[in-house]
Amino acid sequence: MKTENGRQNLVANVSGVRSLPKAGHHSKKTVVVAGGAGFIGSHLCDRLVQKGCDVICLDNLYTGDMSNIRPLLNHPRFRFVQHDVRTPVVLPGPIDRVYNLACAASPRHYQSDPVGTMMTCTLGARHMLDLACEKSARVLQASTSEVYGDPEVHPQSEDYLGHVNPIGPRACYDEGKRAAETLFFDYRRLYNIPIKVARIFNTYGPRMLEDDGRVVSNFVVQALRDEPITIYGDGTQTRSFCFVDDLVSGLELLMESDEEFAGPCNLGNPHEVTIREIAERVVSAAGSKSAVRHMPLPQDDPKRRRPLIDRALTRLGWRPTIDLDRGLKETIGYFCLKIFSSIAVSELSQVQLATRKSKQNTVLQIKRKPE
Ligand code: NAD
Repeated sequence: MKTENGRQNLVANVSGVRSLPKAGHHSKKTVVVAGGAGFIGSHLCDRLVQKGCDVICLDNLYTGDMSNIRPLLNHPRFRFVQHDVRTPVVLPGPIDRVYNLACAASPRHYQSDPVGTMMTCTLGARHMLDLACEKSARVLQASTSEVYGDPEVHPQSEDYLGHVNPIGPRACYDEGKRAAETLFFDYRRLYNIPIKVARIFNTYGPRMLEDDGRVVSNFVVQALRDEPITIYGDGTQTRSFCFVDDLVSGLELLMESDEEFAGPCNLGNPHEVTIREIAERVVSAAGSKSAVRHMPLPQDDPKRRRPLIDRALTRLGWRPTIDLDRGLKETIGYFCLKIFSSIAVSELSQVQLATRKSKQNTVLQIKRKPE
């Protein structure tokens, strides 16, 4: 098969995917999650499988990790297909829903391959839209608060058109996501397909990558290792952090909302905190001895970020329910197990062993604490 520009199409080899039952023969849905082996995508796959959906996870494992979906791999309602969304996908059988989460979300990773990022955002969106058109499925785009750039208005509502530098190092992601939104709304106008656009604000929780440079995972890992906490700038810049369970609920509600409601819809936690405060809370919750180290602010780093979520509240009845302290405890518990269980006991000094034991106890206390 040839693409419009004459290049060979690399259609996904999905012969290993068995045809799932026809939509009309069962009440449960068949759902594609592109980027399903990543941080948010794997939580979404968990939730959908638990709810009885047949889930097909597409991922090229660029920033995703098989360990995130390992518990699902033997589940009869779950299929993993290693696939890059920059190439078209052919999947057998009916599909009811397509979630497009495929794209590295951390600046470190999306900037390490900027052209690849732009293509993932644009070609990836197009291929997921084509899949949705072919299957008459609903399709949801995981867009981002980065479409607002370094905002001149605060807090940000969906009507704000943004303040993005189109030629800076973050543009491959910010502009890529803006172009993806354009494609979604053009497909809706042209083909009348039910689309949903979620503008996701900073989300955190278990399964973030240890080394991807995102604020919460960075601080938690540094605190657990008693290393200096790196704050870029003076730490007075703000962010609003949403725990991943809340975010996944928002994505599901948006996908199942009234057909004519396309969004865009902000999904995030409106509780705004300074970066410095986050650092202090992480250090305290992790029982860490870490001090703070300041580094220069990266180019185009937004100074303030807080969503207005009135639209999500009125259209979806959604608002976050998990506060920062509880979310941080769960996140610290996850990283604590991950970091300390990966170090061989023989490599540790007596002092490190004592520290590890006390931190594992902290995790156990966190785990045992009633909701
Ligand atoms: P992540 O990097 O953990 O997950 C992205 C997943 O997409 C990974 O599994 C990766 O391997 C996969 N992927 C990347 N390029 C691909 C390609 N070309 N083909 C197939 N798979 C590909 O990131 P995340 O935090 O889980 O974010 C998920 C989505 O949500 C992203 O689209 C991101 O832009 C959006 N988002 C996330 C946040 C956040 O705070 N986490 C905020 C705003 C928007």
